[in-house]
Amino acid sequence: MGKCYAAALGNCNGISREHYYSEAILSQFFPQLQIEGFTFNSASHKSLCSKILCQTHNSSLAPLDSEALHFFSLLRNISLNKEIIASHQINGKLLERWFLKTLLGLLAAKQIKIDMELSCHKKLINILYGNQPWDESTGLHFVFPENRFEIDTTLGNSIIAKNCYLFRICNLHFVLTTENVSVKDLLPNYKSGYRSKGLTFQQRTDLSIEIDFQWNENSTN
Ligand SMILES: [Zn+2]
Repeated sequence: MGKCYAAALGNCNGISREHYYSEAILSQFFPQLQIEGFTFNSASHKSLCSKILCQTHNSSLAPLDSEALHFFSLLRNISLNKEIIASHQINGKLLERWFLKTLLGLLAAKQIKIDMELSCHKKLINILYGNQPWDESTGLHFVFPENRFEIDTTLGNSIIAKNCYLFRICNLHFVLTTENVSVKDLLPNYKSGYRSKGLTFQQRTDLSIEIDFQWNENSTN
């Protein structure tokens, strides 16, 4: 029987079968998924499930999943030259917490091993549920190789250093930091930006697509 990793917050009910990478994203975005960095060799969507959250604590994170799905669908459409709308807005705070949800899910499902103090784990759960702000300079970094990226259908994750986690999704790199560490020093060959304001993609000569990220406190939830 699984246990809800957010049990310390109280009000748990029946355990759900949650994917540590959100199901909507897996099924719509990665129909032919390849996995790296997991403890098993071949993965199906089903094997990415684990009983790690109860229904209450799972459903209250639904806005994170829908914002991440919006963002990744946009990237997919851009990579397929299908996007025609020039300007988009993404709530950076929700996207950032989605990466935290993924990290805590991987941890709860024992897919990654992190030496983390209980107090730090508790703090991250409070941040995940919006009960506590991120520590200064921690959270989501956008990290891109210097050259142009190509979007593929791989998904992977790795631990770069203590408190610094890399997610590779469709050849895009995202780093989540849970302490104030220098991503620039850890990944010198990458261009990195902490809580980037936006991304611009040149879709065609006559169409550039902008994704703006909102980071103000009011845009939480
Ligand atoms: Zn719960």
